[in-house]
Amino acid sequence: MPPRRLRACHECDWVAALPPLRPGEKADCPRCGHTLVRRHYRAAQRSLALAVAALVALALGVSFPFVSFQVGGIGNRIELTQTATTLIGFHQPLVAIVVLLTILVLPAVYLLGVIWLQSGLMRGAPWPGSRALARSLDHLNPWMMADVFIIGALVSLIKIAGMAEVQLGTAFWAFCAFAVLLLMTTQSIDGDWMWFTLAGEPRAPHGTHPGERAAVQDITGCPTCGLIGRLDERGRGQCRRCGERLRARLPHSQQRTWALLAAACVMYLPANLYPIMTTTSLGHSQPSTIIGGVVDLWQMGSWPVASVIFVASILVPVGKVVALAWLCLAVRHSDELHASTRTRLYRLTELIGRWSMVDVFVVAILVALIRAGSLMSITPGPAALAFAGVVVLTMLAAMTFDPRLIWDGPDHSRPQHLEEVAHDR
Ligand SMILES: [Zn+2]
Ligand SMILES: [Zn+2]
Repeated sequence: MPPRRLRACHECDWVAALPPLRPGEKADCPRCGHTLVRRHYRAAQRSLALAVAALVALALGVSFPFVSFQVGGIGNRIELTQTATTLIGFHQPLVAIVVLLTILVLPAVYLLGVIWLQSGLMRGAPWPGSRALARSLDHLNPWMMADVFIIGALVSLIKIAGMAEVQLGTAFWAFCAFAVLLLMTTQSIDGDWMWFTLAGEPRAPHGTHPGERAAVQDITGCPTCGLIGRLDERGRGQCRRCGERLRARLPHSQQRTWALLAAACVMYLPANLYPIMTTTSLGHSQPSTIIGGVVDLWQMGSWPVASVIFVASILVPVGKVVALAWLCLAVRHSDELHASTRTRLYRLTELIGRWSMVDVFVVAILVALIRAGSLMSITPGPAALAFAGVVVLTMLAAMTFDPRLIWDGPDHSRPQHLEEVAHDR
């Protein structure tokens, strides 16, 4: 009988033995329900095919016109990259970089990485650098926002539909296909199979017990490949399979989350007080803030779009700050019943955070597209940068929060050395 494969849950630290999995099956943590492993059918072929298709769609998306508009005989047609480059002309290089990275550069790097990695796995001999690549690709996931950009494009089009004639170009549809294929590629990666094929499965440290928390056994699950590794007396170690640093808990998790939340709150003020963009129509300029934009849309009767912007730009960032602050405060008052509710809340804050970027993309698209001189034009406002900052800071805050703290309990079950380590780091 082969040795049992053990895993420590990344969200609640419970050690569980993986059952044998057939393609299409998954193994969930028995304590918190987090999916530990999901087995895919022909994982490498599938990821490779999807990544190639996504890359082709992206190539089409950048080579054809994206959208065009016409008002009073004057029109403009833009390509996808212009949504970023036009911002540089308005002295918003940071926002331009954020747009360029999240919709083009990071996805392209990710897809090329997947192709390199999976083609090596398929031929049975991984290409050089495969391990380092496998370790880093996962980190790109939350920062790729092609799907959010599509929503931003739709919102922009509805916003100006009443004022000008808008036409969608070939690249718009190609980019939609790209966003879907990119999502499918990220979903298709079977990390467990990939690491097993790359580096086998070393046995779990001697004396590892399933059905108990990892921290009390001085072991932890590797955040990248999942293998269980031994920790030293300071709560540190290194993964024997992928080389990732192992830590009992993310260092200074609560302090870092608090600091990032505070920074996000500070940035939230200019994000709402300053205009996010200025619309010039027939020589008359009208600046609008985020909330002002929502109110205008509502009064124009586009309440579905007004609701999207309200949820993405106001409800989600504020809700996320409140939720993370509450999670940090509640860490010390833990009981298992509420722990699973709080873990679900944490997963939700991690999942929805990136969707706040919609308004930043709306600004990028409208600024690039609406260029008809004094007849009609849109310029970006200082709030665009501040708001992009809020989104990035709250995403980082969710990442630095260690959900295992939720399950650690107030004092009775928290191992002594974790307290000491927290002080001397
Ligand atoms: Zn769990
Ligand atoms: Zn590892």
